[in-house]
Amino acid sequence: MKTKEEIQRLREEIIDVSLSLLQQGLIVRTWGNISAKIDDKHYLITPSGIRYEDLKPSMIPVVSIEDGSYEGEYKPSSEFLVHTAIYESRKDAEFIVHTHQVYATCVGALGKKRLKSEHKEKKIIFPVAKYALPGTKALSDNVKDCAIKNAETRSVIMANHGAVCFGHNAEEAVNEAVKLENAAKKYIFTICRTEVSNEILEGFSSKLEEGKIVYLRNDTPERIKLIHQTIYAKRPDVHYIFHNKSEAVMTISRRVNHMRPLLDDFAQIIGTGIRIPTSEHSPLVVKKKINAVFAHNDGAYCLGSTEEDAKSAAIVLDKGCIAHLCVTRFGEGRFISLKDCFKMNRNYRKNYSVLANSVK
Ligand SMILES: [Zn+2]
Repeated sequence: MKTKEEIQRLREEIIDVSLSLLQQGLIVRTWGNISAKIDDKHYLITPSGIRYEDLKPSMIPVVSIEDGSYEGEYKPSSEFLVHTAIYESRKDAEFIVHTHQVYATCVGALGKKRLKSEHKEKKIIFPVAKYALPGTKALSDNVKDCAIKNAETRSVIMANHGAVCFGHNAEEAVNEAVKLENAAKKYIFTICRTEVSNEILEGFSSKLEEGKIVYLRNDTPERIKLIHQTIYAKRPDVHYIFHNKSEAVMTISRRVNHMRPLLDDFAQIIGTGIRIPTSEHSPLVVKKKINAVFAHNDGAYCLGSTEEDAKSAAIVLDKGCIAHLCVTRFGEGRFISLKDCFKMNRNYRKNYSVLANSVK
């Protein structure tokens, strides 16, 4: 049993870990979540939808392992069932981080059952839990199954979604996430021969201010201004356009003519499928519920109702494009079914609008 002071320290540690994971790029925005066990029946977990930078110790709810009920002003992360599954199945789990880290997530889209690697000359296996929709009991059951069958590993890759890593304490859990990311990156660079970086490069972005388009760079060419004007005219809900010219997005804009979601967050934030113009003369494809517009050989315009939304779309699109390149080079992959994509996209839109309205 932990004392009040020890629990308070754990709350602070959760915040410290979240900020350090943000800094290392293993989590972004409000995505991912972190938890710490208090006793055999309870754990602390980061709340749903709060930015890590805004998180205070008192905002962290306590969840019951037995029935999923919680205490606290803020709702636990919608992915708490995955944490419950790990605490139930693994006695060596006292601290858990769930991330959407780029390379491990991409390995989880290849349709593989495990990632084999070496660490300090020892063989390690990172199992991949079967796919199920985020937040569902089916997903937590799949993760639990993997955690039980692979007692020697403390990381489970979640197919088409992310990873869950754990240890006896915060340091061990974070080290696991780093170890997994290094192994996944190495695998992708060697097996998929995709030495593609995940750095976002900004081209010509713009925003709407009192109904007028403000171009963020003075040297924005007329040809590109026309693209921005077309997008704003067709999408009245868009107020910010981020021109994403990252390596992966550029490659896709040159070589691919259609993309279906390989990752959950792509289906939620970008949309259920995207057409890419095959020449400079092909018309732009601006669709109602698709938050990216590709330009042939010139990256993609990521759309949002705010700057933050557009930048989130840019991050998610970049990762989705890396996953697409990995699957193409690997020659195999597992796409998310159209039915599941529609379900996630609808849920995300519904929850997001509820959240946005409650913040106002
Ligand atoms: Zn997740």
